[in-house]
Amino acid sequence: MSRVSFNRKRVKLKKVLGIRARLALLALILVTPLMLERVRSLEDTRAKQIALASAEFASLAKHSADMQREVISSVETVLRSTAYVRGSEGGVSRSCDIMRASLPASLPWIRSLMIVGGDGRIQCSTNNLFVGLDLSDRPYLIKARESRDFVFSDFVLARPTNTPVVMAAYPVSAINPDNDSVVLAGVNLDWMSKIMSNLGSRPGVTAALVDSAGTVLAAPADQAGMIGRPLDTVPLLSSIAEKAFGSNQPEGSLSFLAVDGSKRIVNFARITGTQSRLIISIDEARVSAVINGEIRTAYLQLAFVCLFVLLGALVAAQKLIIQPIETMAAMAKRFGQGEWSVRAARKSLPAEFVPLARAFNAMAAQLGKRERELLATNDRLTVMASIDMLSGLANRRGFQSRLDFEWMKAQQYDSELSLLMIDVDHFKLFNDTYGHPEGDACLTRLGDTLSAVAGETMGFAGRYGGEEFCLLLPNTDAKRALEIGEMVRAAIQNLAMPHSTSSFLTVTASVGVACTRPNEKQQPGDLIEAADAALYAAKHRGRNTVVEHGFVRLTDGGMALAS
Ligand code: GH3
Ligand code: MG
Ligand code: MG
Repeated sequence: MSRVSFNRKRVKLKKVLGIRARLALLALILVTPLMLERVRSLEDTRAKQIALASAEFASLAKHSADMQREVISSVETVLRSTAYVRGSEGGVSRSCDIMRASLPASLPWIRSLMIVGGDGRIQCSTNNLFVGLDLSDRPYLIKARESRDFVFSDFVLARPTNTPVVMAAYPVSAINPDNDSVVLAGVNLDWMSKIMSNLGSRPGVTAALVDSAGTVLAAPADQAGMIGRPLDTVPLLSSIAEKAFGSNQPEGSLSFLAVDGSKRIVNFARITGTQSRLIISIDEARVSAVINGEIRTAYLQLAFVCLFVLLGALVAAQKLIIQPIETMAAMAKRFGQGEWSVRAARKSLPAEFVPLARAFNAMAAQLGKRERELLATNDRLTVMASIDMLSGLANRRGFQSRLDFEWMKAQQYDSELSLLMIDVDHFKLFNDTYGHPEGDACLTRLGDTLSAVAGETMGFAGRYGGEEFCLLLPNTDAKRALEIGEMVRAAIQNLAMPHSTSSFLTVTASVGVACTRPNEKQQPGDLIEAADAALYAAKHRGRNTVVEHGFVRLTDGGMALAS
């Protein structure tokens, strides 16, 4: 990945991760290991509970198998003693009598006892129905004869009664090799089932005693329906039939996924001395239902804790960081808009923001001071920009703005406004004769003189440019303006500043007078033009004179009119 795209991704990430998201992420990073540890311990508990249940059922299965074995042992003992009687010297009828008498009431699981002769027919039985029945083709009979040992049959239906039984056979030849009789016992399957009753009525648990062919011999009362059925037709157990029987181990366990989707653990134990197996299948989910419920509650609690932590982080971010930042930002904004007095209230801010607020306040105070200084400097500069330093009067810019103001005022009050344009006569010659610095000094004195006249006449004096001055006279009619013009001319002459190259021998000035009542049709420039025209006329008339614009009126000092 190039550095550029990496940086771009970082910028994007920064945009996405605002300060709230970052704090929430931090909170999650802190909480996650605790959560994971809790999840791990819960899952551990679940596994332990299931293992515990499985072990409990395994021990139950073993216990049940042991009980089955005891039953079978008791049957074997009875058969062995009967075979002993039959094997000893004595007729079959005597043996039968002893057998009938010896059927103990304390062994109710033995349904019937019988002696089978060498021809395979039942010679005598505790149940007369069976006498004469030919059993020579029965596998358990054949096997007992061959093995000369105790044989416990698979599931059989007793022919005359059509009841499901398991037959136990003991060959007399095991005691007396010359005798080929076999002693048989029909074992009551109900009793086998009763022994398994401790495995019944448990949710999610299926138990069955299965013969070597896979037929169910016995089951707890609530699962009695499967007795006599091949295991591979029993729901939930069919798929494990092969595995349970494929194993040569006397006992074991395996887990598998049943067709209904439930995960099952199967424990199986062989009944010693027989081919039968006791199979217990446990639905893991149902066994762990309680712990699952507890785990669900615990997960819910975890989710709430997470949510609480997140909300806490967000509220803390809002209160401790975002809000103070927004307050400071709002203050900086107000300050930027010119509210110089705005200051951060330190009390309402978290302690960490106090130094920032203090720095902000110091900066605001400094900036406020600078701003005031700047404004004062600006004012000074504005004044300086409109003052002529030589004469001390307003310069042309200052005069122009005052003219605009007085023009507006006169227009508003419908009053008269007069203007005097004053130009020094033969000033070029003055410079030539006395030098430029002397010319400047002359202009300064003229400025003082005009300032004095302005003070007397409520006028506003300015230096229009070069050696040309002006005097603005608000509320002054033409007649009074002419008088003031004469006053100016006389005042300058009375200064008696020597000017040897002028015909008047002193410094003199010509004055042009204009007066008007400002209206919408006129401009301030028109008044200047008129005064200028009058000044031109005064020059034309020989200088050191006052001329009023628009008509000719000569005064004592030699005033004239300009047209
Ligand atoms: P007129 O009587 O027709 O007005 O003649 P004038 O010589 O006064 O007029 P002109 O326009 O020919 O010359 C004006 C002179 O004023 C030229 C210039 O050197 C001088 N002047 C303008 N400003 C200043 C200034 O600030 N200081 C000095 N010393 N002289 C100035
Ligand atoms: Mg001039
Ligand atoms: Mg001049």
